[in-house]
Amino acid sequence: MTLIGSHVGMNAPDFFLGSAKEAVSYQANTLMLYTGAPQNTKRRELSELKIDEGWAYLRTHGIEEIVIHAPYIINLANTVKPETYELAVSFLTLELQRSAAMGSRILILHPGAHVGAGADVGTRSIVKGLHEVLSACPDCMIALETMAGKGSEIGRRFEELAAIYDGVPENDRLRICFDTCHVHDAGYDIVHDFDGVIEQFDRLLGKDQIAVFHINDSKNERGAHKDRHANIGEGFIGFDALRAIVHHPDFLSVPKILETPYRPDSENPSQTLPPYKEEIAMLR
Ligand code: FE
Ligand code: FE
Ligand code: ZN
Repeated sequence: MTLIGSHVGMNAPDFFLGSAKEAVSYQANTLMLYTGAPQNTKRRELSELKIDEGWAYLRTHGIEEIVIHAPYIINLANTVKPETYELAVSFLTLELQRSAAMGSRILILHPGAHVGAGADVGTRSIVKGLHEVLSACPDCMIALETMAGKGSEIGRRFEELAAIYDGVPENDRLRICFDTCHVHDAGYDIVHDFDGVIEQFDRLLGKDQIAVFHINDSKNERGAHKDRHANIGEGFIGFDALRAIVHHPDFLSVPKILETPYRPDSENPSQTLPPYKEEIAMLR
């Protein structure tokens, strides 16, 4: 059975047990979470997170695999502000240790944004940072996410990801998170020619390097470099293309994670509701 789940929260008082319950309520068989707020570095003690209770709950429901996403304030490519790079390295090291302790074999990371210094300089900075953190954490793995190319983001072309692999001595512990919205927004035609896109990916990186998919529709046309996720079947990628990716025979054992937007609650318009139960059922 294909592995499909969504991004879930992790909030007081139940923390990881709450994340597990949320995923099960969507009839997911995998899930993704952040170890705390994605936009800051404040983190709870691991002992507060109900990790064992969460795993016990997941196992009773047949879920054996989770993935963790690093916060997006981490920017290893920033050579303009040295303190941003320093924080990225030290916080990423901590996040890798936390992910391992929470039972995720892999941490998803946005490669970084060069903030004006140029892609070459930014890429060298990412390589240096990844070498630092991976050599300090010998059992950890990082999945670099394919990016839409918004602003100065690095990782929108498969060549850019391959250049990072080429530079990092520990690249046997790098993997890729393939985000459908981002790859589409970066300009690849996954709607009409997913297999051709995967062929290009395979030549540059190896398709066995895809450790996670983010399954999102896109609010924008191919090549827009916008990165605005749409609900499944409501964007420019469309249901048929996304469903084919979810069930692609080459990637059956790779977790597929939805990061689609919450929808307004028709009964209470000031609130929004997660679309994941319905979207998972649609795609299964
Ligand atoms: Fe991401
Ligand atoms: Fe994503
Ligand atoms: Zn995105």
